[in-house]
Amino acid sequence: MTATLDTEMLIGATFAAGTEAPETVLNPKTEETLVELPEASADQIDAAVNAADKAFAGWARTTPAERSYLLLKLADRIEAEAESFATLEALNCGKPRHAVLRDEIPGVVDCFRFFAGAVRTQHGMVAGEYLAGHTSMIRRDPIGVVASIAPWNYPLMMAAWKLAPALAGGNTVVIKPSEQTPLTALKLARLIADIFPEGVVNVVVGRGESVGNALINHPKVAMVSLTGDIATGKKVLTAAARSVKRTHLELGGKAPVIVFDDADIAEVVEGVKAFGYYNAGQDCTAACRIYAADRIYDRLVADLASAVSGLKFASPNDEENDIGPLISARQRARVASFVERASEVGHIEIATGGKLAPGKGFFYEPTVVAGALQSDEIVRREVFGPVVSVTRFKEVEDAVAWANDSDYGLASSVWTKDISRGMATAARLQYGCTWVNCHFMLVSEMPHGGLKQSGYGKDLSAYALEDYTVVRHVMVKNG
Ligand code: NAD
Repeated sequence: MTATLDTEMLIGATFAAGTEAPETVLNPKTEETLVELPEASADQIDAAVNAADKAFAGWARTTPAERSYLLLKLADRIEAEAESFATLEALNCGKPRHAVLRDEIPGVVDCFRFFAGAVRTQHGMVAGEYLAGHTSMIRRDPIGVVASIAPWNYPLMMAAWKLAPALAGGNTVVIKPSEQTPLTALKLARLIADIFPEGVVNVVVGRGESVGNALINHPKVAMVSLTGDIATGKKVLTAAARSVKRTHLELGGKAPVIVFDDADIAEVVEGVKAFGYYNAGQDCTAACRIYAADRIYDRLVADLASAVSGLKFASPNDEENDIGPLISARQRARVASFVERASEVGHIEIATGGKLAPGKGFFYEPTVVAGALQSDEIVRREVFGPVVSVTRFKEVEDAVAWANDSDYGLASSVWTKDISRGMATAARLQYGCTWVNCHFMLVSEMPHGGLKQSGYGKDLSAYALEDYTVVRHVMVKNG
C-alpha cells in the first residue's frame, strides 16, 4: 500500500518546509529512507509560537461548545481517513498496519471525542458567599501557549493525547513530533488547518536538542507537555525553572506484573504475550517485569517462553505479524546490549529469543529472561523492547516490595483469582495505574500517568483537562 507524504510544517495559516539541515526519516522494517525532512529554523519556531500566542486571545474566549464542535469535526476527519493514517503510521514506525487500524486509530478518534464532551461538563466547587456580602466563584481557564513534545512509539496517539485536552481547555499549541516519526503529525496538520482557526495549532519538526530545546525555552510558551525519556524530562524541568513554566511529564516505565499462585496461568501467559510485546515492547506500560509465585514459577516460564516463541514478526505478509521491528538501529542495539549483559549473569537464563533477527529491518526476537533477581539490571532498567524478565518470589511481602522498589511508577498489574487479594495488593502499589487480571487496558475516561520518575500529570480523562487549565477564583462584592 502506498502513502502520500505530507512534508510541510504548519505555522499559523502557512504550510512551509523547514529550512535547516534535514533529518532522515526511515522505514524501520526495510531500513529504507522515506524522506529527508529539513528541520525548523529558529525563526520558524519563533513564528509558530508567535502564531499560537496571537491566536490564544480569540481561542481562549470561545465557548466549550464551539471548541467541542471543532474537536468532533477533527475526530470525524481522522476516522474518515483511518486507512491512510494507519498506512502512514505503519510505514514510519514499522508497526503491523492491522494493529494500528484496530487499536490505535479508534483510540485517537475517541480521545478527541471524549475531550469534546468532557469540556462541556466540567465540575467544581459551588459558587457561594464564603465571606458575608461577597460571592465567590471558581473559573477554569486556559493556560496559554502549550509546547507539546511527543515520542516515537505512538506518534499519532500521543499527538491526540496532547492536542485534545489542551485545545478543549482553550489553549493554543505548538506540537513537535519525534524527529523519527513526524509523518502522521504532518498529515494531521492538513486536517487541522481546514478546521481550526489560524494559529490555534502549529506543527514544527526537528530534533530535540535544537527544535525541542528552542520550544521549551521560548518565553511565550506557558506550559510544556512532554512524553519521553526521564533525561529529557529533566531538561524540560531545568528550562521551565528559568521562567516558571507549567510542566506535564509522561516519562518511562517498568511495569511490574505480580502473579500469585492461584492465578489463571493461561490468562497470564496470553496477557503477557500480548501486552509485554505489543508495539515490540516499545511501550511505557509494557508488562515487562514479572514476579511469579514460587509454586507456579516453572510452569509460567515454560508456558510463556513457548507462547512468546510463537509471536510473529518480520513476515513479508504484514497481516501475519503480531509485532514489528524496533524503531531504529540504535534502539535495537540498546535492547540487544541489555539482553547480552543479562545473559552473562550466572543465574539468568534466556528462555526464548535473545537474538537479532536476520535480514533487513530493526527486528529483535521476542525474549523471555528467566531467573532474574531484583538487583539485576534487566529488572531495574527500562529496556523499551520485546524483552520480559521473570523473577521468583516466595513471600507476598517481597513481591510487593520489589514491585515498588523502582525509579518508575507508571503501570502495574496483579494476577489472582482471589479478588480481595488483588484489591489489597493494588492498594499497596505505588503506580499511576494497577490492573487486576489484565494489563494495558486504556479508556479515554480514565487517567494515564505516572508517579516517581515516570513523571506527573495525567493524559486522558477529566484529570487531563484539569492539568491543561488553571483554577481561578473570582469574588464579587454583593450590592
Ligand atoms: P526522548 O525523550 O528521546 O524524545 C521524546 C521527545 O522529546 C522527542 O520529540 C524528542 O525530539 C524530544 N526531545 C529530546 N531531547 C529534547 C530536548 N533536549 N529538549 C526538548 N525536547 C527534546 O524519548 P523517545 O526516545 O522519543 O521515547 C521513548 C521514551 O518515552 C521512553 O523512555 C518511554 O518510556 C517514554 N514514553 C513514555 C510514555 C508515558 O506515557 N509515560 C509514553 C510513551 C513513551
